[in-house]
Amino acid sequence: MSEMKIYEYIWLDGYQPEPSLRSKIKTTEDDSPPAWAFDGSSTQQAEGGKSDCLLLPVQTYDNPLFADYLVMCQVETGEHETHPSNTRVAASEVVTDEWWFGFEQEFFFTGKNGDPLGWEDGTPRPQGDYYCGVGADNVAGREISEAHLEACLEAGIELSGTNAEVALGQWEYQCFGKGIKAGDDLWVSRYLLHKVAEEFGVGVNLHPKPKEGDWNGSGMHANFSNEEMRTKGSEKLFYSICEKLKDVHKEGIESYGSDNDMRLTGLHETQSIDQFSYAIFDRGASIRIPIYTIEHDWNGYLEDRRPASNADPYKIISHIVGTLS
Ligand code: MN
Ligand code: MN
Ligand code: MN
Repeated sequence: MSEMKIYEYIWLDGYQPEPSLRSKIKTTEDDSPPAWAFDGSSTQQAEGGKSDCLLLPVQTYDNPLFADYLVMCQVETGEHETHPSNTRVAASEVVTDEWWFGFEQEFFFTGKNGDPLGWEDGTPRPQGDYYCGVGADNVAGREISEAHLEACLEAGIELSGTNAEVALGQWEYQCFGKGIKAGDDLWVSRYLLHKVAEEFGVGVNLHPKPKEGDWNGSGMHANFSNEEMRTKGSEKLFYSICEKLKDVHKEGIESYGSDNDMRLTGLHETQSIDQFSYAIFDRGASIRIPIYTIEHDWNGYLEDRRPASNADPYKIISHIVGTLS
């Protein structure tokens, strides 16, 4: 008899405007995770009468927290059709592995009352000391951020870095991937973030503006490139890409996360939500042309600074690749 294996299935539910992550565990002797099912009436994905939805495994990872594997799934209806909540299919139809993405995921850790970590005794000192800070007065949640980084690397998800962000209790990590796996990796990195934080009794807040006032919101800058941008680039090519994205700015914003108007105000290193601009170096632009690209004679990548922290990476991929190819 072969050994039982433990598969932790992960999927996106039917909640609006952004889905939440769900998971459940299957043990089996199978060497790869089989298709499975769940009760869609409990996840806003089906009516009670015919509630079965199907889980199709699309990406398997070593499980860094608990034996043996993490299994990212997409959801089908009981009739084997793409579920309306399944945004992955559309992205996978347009994207290829020549497209590279680096998502800069910002978020807040939260304590028991739902306030950011470090805010338990009231509003902290104004922003200034916290970004990339060190010392107990200046950071909150570092041990969780570090445990999350190690977990992602063990799972084979390429986190290229982390940093404490501008507000107390706010953090960022950068997640790099190619093709549709970039979207899968970002979702699984979020799953691991929730689970690692769970072990510390801490929550994760992905809202783009958890604290109103003079506090930075959370974004998810999307760095992207394709083969032509990396190896046959020119000033003309990069400007034409920016112009194409400008023409569909409204559709872009619709794909880039809810409540993003609270964050894209023109302050706190953002451009206003109803304006589109692109520029070299400028952190107040919608799209920034990074110094790397200029210094490599217009070969490199672009940084779309519009996506919110709660954005669905599959929708970001669909918008960018769908617009540019
Ligand atoms: Mn960053
Ligand atoms: Mn940042
Ligand atoms: Mn950035």
